[in-house]
Amino acid sequence: MKRTCLICHAVFESADDDPTIAQGICLQCSEGIVTPASAVTLGEFLDQISVPVLLMDDDVRVAGFNQAAHTLLGGQHHELSGRLAGEVIACENAGLPGGCGQTGNCRGCAIRHAITSTYQTGERRRNVAAKQLGKLISTEKVGGFVLLRIDER
Ligand SMILES: [Zn+2]
Repeated sequence: MKRTCLICHAVFESADDDPTIAQGICLQCSEGIVTPASAVTLGEFLDQISVPVLLMDDDVRVAGFNQAAHTLLGGQHHELSGRLAGEVIACENAGLPGGCGQTGNCRGCAIRHAITSTYQTGERRRNVAAKQLGKLISTEKVGGFVLLRIDER
């Protein structure tokens, strides 16, 4: 089926036959995220996406974010970069001993699972219920990162 790019809105072919998958990141934009043009910061590049997105590394820490995510997560009061997923979404487990990813509850975390499984397999996840946010999330591997998109329910 055809998909449209979240950043440049180009229509591109996808081998994926899941009809619910309508948007992704085209190869060209994916390369732009991995190696941003010198004049454009990663944040500015991601700001081309109107929905909230976070770029997560293999440690499930924030490597980049856009303005929409910053606003949604109340980022004006704290720094997002380098922080664990559970910290930026104010997951209650992030406040327990050990913190995000290290508590007994983290094994069942849909957000962590979506990010790590996409990172390891390269397969995207769609419409994963992130109960800490009360929203659906989608993940897509982009270079050495996972782009996490927060969708409205
Ligand atoms: Zn694109």
